[in-house]
Amino acid sequence: MSREEANKDDKFVAMVSAKAEVDLRLSDYTPRSELKVASHTIEQPRFPVIDYHNHLDAQSPQDMLRVMDACGVEKLVNITMKTGQAAIESIDRFHRAAPDRFASFGWMDWSGIERADFIQLSMDRLERLVEHGACGIKFWKDLGLTVRDASGALLRIDDQRLAPLFDKAAELKIPVMFHTADPDAFFTPIDRLNERYEELAAHPDWSFYGSPVPKASLLEQRDRVIAWHPKTTFVAAHLAESSENLSYVAKLLDSHPNLYVDISARTPELGRQPYTARKFMLKYADRILFGTDLIPEVEMYRLYYRFLETDDEYFEYPSHASRQGRWNIYGIFLPEDVLRKVYRENALKQLNATSR
Ligand SMILES: [Zn+2]
Repeated sequence: MSREEANKDDKFVAMVSAKAEVDLRLSDYTPRSELKVASHTIEQPRFPVIDYHNHLDAQSPQDMLRVMDACGVEKLVNITMKTGQAAIESIDRFHRAAPDRFASFGWMDWSGIERADFIQLSMDRLERLVEHGACGIKFWKDLGLTVRDASGALLRIDDQRLAPLFDKAAELKIPVMFHTADPDAFFTPIDRLNERYEELAAHPDWSFYGSPVPKASLLEQRDRVIAWHPKTTFVAAHLAESSENLSYVAKLLDSHPNLYVDISARTPELGRQPYTARKFMLKYADRILFGTDLIPEVEMYRLYYRFLETDDEYFEYPSHASRQGRWNIYGIFLPEDVLRKVYRENALKQLNATSR
């Protein structure tokens, strides 16, 4: 009898080689975990928290304060996505309501880019934002991907014409936040191999697959700007948009002492690689800022605390409604000294730099 013939009749071989094709729709498949493991709700964080990355234009200060008080958030940073007078109004609305509980970031305003004096105009706008209490300025992923100069050419992140703006930020003692590019899966086809398939199916416009500028090139342009302006403090949002590759983020932090990263919206990434994430957070505790980038809600904050403080296993990550991918996360039980820095002290250093 040949080996194949023998295998065909064997119950064990049959059992371990069985496969099935199923026609359950992916959207209908919502398995429940049957794991019985320890589970903790962290109602209050170990130390007061500063959420360094949020967007509050659509929120009311009173609603925010209720959430903040319920779950130990000392301060919320409102990165306004508005520009011009509307930005000033959004900033003022929160500062008037509770100056100690809110801080603000401006949003790079590309209107008028066709003007010959655009850089001077932008520097004046930056000054005005800071006069109104802004503690930073955010450059979004549109820079590098869609913003075009007067000639119609894509504006590179490392275009030398922008250099005076980054120097101006140093002079005003405010950090520049970069959200450059997006997760790796957003640059690959939306197909059966894409680990964020359902999220991209819900938001096909989030995909940059086929973009003329590859992700690696966008990150290179950004990293060059960080190197060229050592006196400017940079915050690379969402773990420098490289949370799938923390060794790259580590190298970046090693090469640029003027760089910080925030963990906003990247708990799903960190929590699925808990050993690597924990080592990374311990080593770079002085350079990592807590942020959420999700609508402030009590349960959302408590999931962040559970991830950072406990060793709970296999639980749901905080996320927007379409989720990021079909996996769960593991807590990384950070020690007190690291929690204190990440939750609060690193952010305080940034916010106090403007000494306002
Ligand atoms: Zn954001």
